[in-house]
Amino acid sequence: MKEGLSTRCVHAGEPHDPQGSPHAPLYATTTFKFPSTAALLDVVEGRKPGALYTRYGLNPTIQALEEKLAAIEGAEAALAFSSGMAAESALFLAHGRRGVVCLGDAYGGTLELLASQLPQLGVPTHFLLADELDRLPAILQQGVDLVFFETPTNPVLELFDIAAIAELAHAHGARLAVDNTFASPVNQNPLALGADFVVHSATKYLGGHSDLTAGALMGSKDLVMPVWNWRKNLGQTIAPETAAQLARSLRTLTVRVARQNDSAMKIAEALQAHHAVERVLYPGLPDFPGHALARRQMKGFGGMLTIEIKGGGEAATRVADALRLFALAPSLGGVESLVTQPCTTTHHGLTPEERARRGISDAMLRLSVGLEDADDLIADLNRALA
Ligand SMILES: *Cc1c(COP(=O)(O)O)cnc(C)c1O
Repeated sequence: MKEGLSTRCVHAGEPHDPQGSPHAPLYATTTFKFPSTAALLDVVEGRKPGALYTRYGLNPTIQALEEKLAAIEGAEAALAFSSGMAAESALFLAHGRRGVVCLGDAYGGTLELLASQLPQLGVPTHFLLADELDRLPAILQQGVDLVFFETPTNPVLELFDIAAIAELAHAHGARLAVDNTFASPVNQNPLALGADFVVHSATKYLGGHSDLTAGALMGSKDLVMPVWNWRKNLGQTIAPETAAQLARSLRTLTVRVARQNDSAMKIAEALQAHHAVERVLYPGLPDFPGHALARRQMKGFGGMLTIEIKGGGEAATRVADALRLFALAPSLGGVESLVTQPCTTTHHGLTPEERARRGISDAMLRLSVGLEDADDLIADLNRALA
């Protein structure tokens, strides 16, 4: 990994093309033909790399994307999936069958999979919030396979110490998987901090344009290859068309995220000074509780921030409805700015008590900062807050 991230985003996974295409062409192809049975068997039996069948991921467009995905997280190997949940479910089935511990808040689909679906298959799952981490060693002692968390979390931007938790997990023979969706590889590299796996909902920053659904898993070859068989037979491989679209997005990843970091910081500072805002949660603010850790383990503070509006849930709803540039929509990481009120969307299914336990109030609005001019976004917020 000698080259910088922007160079890797542009040039990794772009094989030489005999026609001179500067980027990996799209093979909208399900199967690949061979000159002889001997040549076919070379690929089937793994003696030679090559294209074979698209659901296996053995399609040049998907393979090129995976090379790029591995390079941007500094990983030995990567697998591309049809969604972020596909990547997570394949990871849990391949590497979490003796048990998974989830730390902190997590994406709703992840929580449902871990809390109510994997236990139906006999997989033990455990959940600890940040103030319960002292119980982690005892759970690891029971023989758990995998520790899993997001950092920063949704929507309160809580941070977990990747290096410290990796060390603890490894001391108990467990592995660490980090969902790096919120930070993106531009701002955080969990593998370099000791994590064994990184998962992404590529639907968010990696795709970056709210126009594709995809997922990614990165790690060492030894650990990623067992997941390949699960992806193959669960049928979770990314489509070649989506793979080409995602590779295109990745070429501009660093430019997009750098701008989103800058704009989010400007918005956080502007809103902190606003009389109608009770609190701004953003890792880049010096008085944010996770700021010191963010400085240590992140290279940028991200494009996500959460604000708490004075006047409670109804006031927050009025602000969300009054915004014009920030579209009222779940999801995040795209070029267009989005706003969600977690109690009505991402955390709607939780009881008010459970939301309170997670530090989520009805007055919170989560902002995903896009690529519009920061001044215009601030003006939109000022107008809606008025
Ligand atoms: C969106 C999201 C997911 C799920 O990704 P999909 O691509 O929708 O399956 C998982 N984790 C996080 C943090 C997310 O934001």
